[in-house]
Amino acid sequence: MRLSVIGCGYLGAVHAAAMASIGHEVVGIDVDERKIASLSRGEAPFFEPGLQEILSEGLASGRLRFSTDMADAAGAKVHFIGVGTPQKKDGDAADLTYVNAAVDALIPHLADGDVVAGKSTVPVGTAATLAERVTPTGATLVWNPEFLREGWAVQDTIDPDRLVAGVPAGAEGERAADVLREVYHPSVAKNTPFIVTDLATAELVKVAANAFLATKISFINAMAEIAEVTGADVTTLADAIGHDARIGRRFLGAGIGFGGGCLPKDIRAFSARAEELGRGESVAFLREIDAINMRRRDRAVDLVVSAFGGSVFKKNITVLGAAFKPHSDDTRDSPALDVAVRLHGLGAWVTVTDPEAIENARRIHPQLNYVEDRDEALRAADAVIVVTEWDEYRRQLAPEHASSLATGRVIVDGRNCLDAAAWRAAGWDYYGMGRP
Ligand code: NAD
Repeated sequence: MRLSVIGCGYLGAVHAAAMASIGHEVVGIDVDERKIASLSRGEAPFFEPGLQEILSEGLASGRLRFSTDMADAAGAKVHFIGVGTPQKKDGDAADLTYVNAAVDALIPHLADGDVVAGKSTVPVGTAATLAERVTPTGATLVWNPEFLREGWAVQDTIDPDRLVAGVPAGAEGERAADVLREVYHPSVAKNTPFIVTDLATAELVKVAANAFLATKISFINAMAEIAEVTGADVTTLADAIGHDARIGRRFLGAGIGFGGGCLPKDIRAFSARAEELGRGESVAFLREIDAINMRRRDRAVDLVVSAFGGSVFKKNITVLGAAFKPHSDDTRDSPALDVAVRLHGLGAWVTVTDPEAIENARRIHPQLNYVEDRDEALRAADAVIVVTEWDEYRRQLAPEHASSLATGRVIVDGRNCLDAAAWRAAGWDYYGMGRP
């Protein structure tokens, strides 16, 4: 099938290449000329495992191409909208400027019977408003939210655990759902759950999923706060409650909390939208989820500061990690970088390293010192803090090796990902999050 994907960022570039890899003829469109030039050369513009391979294959097969010209969307049967919906600069709500601009630019190129499938995460009610503009063209507006995880985006796009299609009522909606079934034919063939619903439910499914995940993380971090004043160990607590199948161990890792381009802005946008709808109280707990999350960053900074008796002024602090999570170069709202910036603000000499995210980090926070090589970054450190749980730090950094490089013996484990006993045995003062 001929498809267009509007917006070629973390979501759209992967979606375009993944759709080509399952046999479709795809044009990816973005207003960012550098991104399109890079994608057209076969160079993934960001780090995402497996993207480079499917991008090269797609271009070589002739089924995948990229353009900055919206007119190239003409002739596609389905147009996916994957542009950004960031937090507004002056509040918590989602900024829909890009979605509106993309849809308005697409409208002149739509043909009768086309399907416009929104994938961006939007406040409930957005799709109905967009449908009013799209319907007169004879195209059908549907919402097909995306659940990919950065770091696993290729796999999640090609083989998702469920598909959701919000469609208008009646025969038109049924036909559009069938078109999406054809698009996602490998998943349909293997009986992946394919949930057809109305537009509002589809939009809400996405924000509800992210609200739940954020809640689970902040729940365990709230337990970490209690553990910290009682001498309890939150990691043992998480293991113990996680054995209950109703609870489950995943997403119960206490640490410096969640970040990235989705969870923080999505829960804030959800709160803002609920307030607009006069139902702010229904999701008032999300404000607390956000507050707990932000407090964990303070806690990590406090642990470093108190390890030095109250001041990190002119201390060499090595920050292991900049990406908001491992297997990604994404530094949007990264708790790792936030901690680094705060330590820098307290007068510490901060050195940041990360296997993939240095370029992005430097662009946002040029004031920090960045070192590519992990061991070089550890040299002469008075303290080390792990803020992104890359294998390079979690599994591949032996405390004895760190001892041969660092000057000090303070290790703060912002992700509770290190073997505390091993670090202590090697002579380090180990501080975890919610652990004695
Ligand atoms: P991103 O910032 O990486 O990409 C957005 C892209 O849209 C950019 O390349 C930008 O240049 C392009 N763009 C903006 N305006 C445009 C226009 N008018 N026409 C064409 N292109 C335009 O963002 P992302 O992480 O890919 O997120 C996109 C959407 O997907 C957001 O709503 C996000 O919440 C949602 N989402 C993201 C993820 C994720 O893990 N990144 C997962 C699920 C859902």
